Amino acid sequence: MTSYIGRFAPSPTGPLHMGSLVAAMASYLDAKAHQGSWLVRMEDVDEARCLPGAAEAILHALQALGMDWDGEVSVQSARTAHYAAAYDRLHGHTYPCSCSRREIADSRLGLAADGSAIYPGTCRNGLAPGKAARALRIRLPHIGEADQKISFIDRWQGPVSQDLAQEAGDFVLFRADGFWAYQLAVVVDDAQQGITDVVRGVDLLDSTARQIYLQRLLGLPTPGYLHVPVVRNAAGEKLSKQTGAQALDLAQPLASLGEAAGHLGISVAGAASLDALWRSATEQWAVRFARRR
Ligand code: GLU
Repeated sequence: MTSYIGRFAPSPTGPLHMGSLVAAMASYLDAKAHQGSWLVRMEDVDEARCLPGAAEAILHALQALGMDWDGEVSVQSARTAHYAAAYDRLHGHTYPCSCSRREIADSRLGLAADGSAIYPGTCRNGLAPGKAARALRIRLPHIGEADQKISFIDRWQGPVSQDLAQEAGDFVLFRADGFWAYQLAVVVDDAQQGITDVVRGVDLLDSTARQIYLQRLLGLPTPGYLHVPVVRNAAGEKLSKQTGAQALDLAQPLASLGEAAGHLGISVAGAASLDALWRSATEQWAVRFARRR
């Protein structure tokens, strides 16, 4: 019997590349090292960014690399009713916002760590006359109020603490382009799938406090977190489709997996088969990352 449920939650904006493989591998190894289940969820809630065929290509790549998932693949675009229901449960903690990107940028409150502009709170007390709602936002506690600071222990990064009001601002739950925001969708889905441990790239470390805040408001459990370093290209940018990441060479699965393992500080040199490689990598991961609760 195990209580561990992990997940890999790619956005199907392109094929699997070295950056997304490292996140997939880390979540897979953590699940295997804890005799847990490993689920795959397609985060296609931002339908405008998704590429036809990318979800199938990612699943095909996972299979070719020997990473079999448990259960059905869950798909966010089929779950919008659940996001709407969660939003309704946040009643009293949300408000409509009419501000354009330009108006928010002009307020010069600065940028959250993820690069989004911190919202100045213009529409907190109601829309200005004649203005229409574009987006829906969370109403965070004011600076100085007790519960605005979120702290957690990340199993790779150590103690993390974020002052939400100051460092993130009232963030978006429903976007001006008509899609539910990642922060809300991920919280609803992690809870619905019973995820006990979230393992993903450190680029999402800054989102975690927002997600924990939403979990608390919705009365949902907070999973454990482990954020692995992201792979960077020669220019030092996070490897992604936008920064020119290449699709993996699936004809060389051992080489691709060996490179990904190296990014996680694991050596699988000499593994002659997928089975042997996964066994060795899981043993090494288990020694380093035994979950302590
Ligand atoms: N869909 C997100 C991404 O591909 C990952 C979300 C998560 O793991 O929480 O960057």
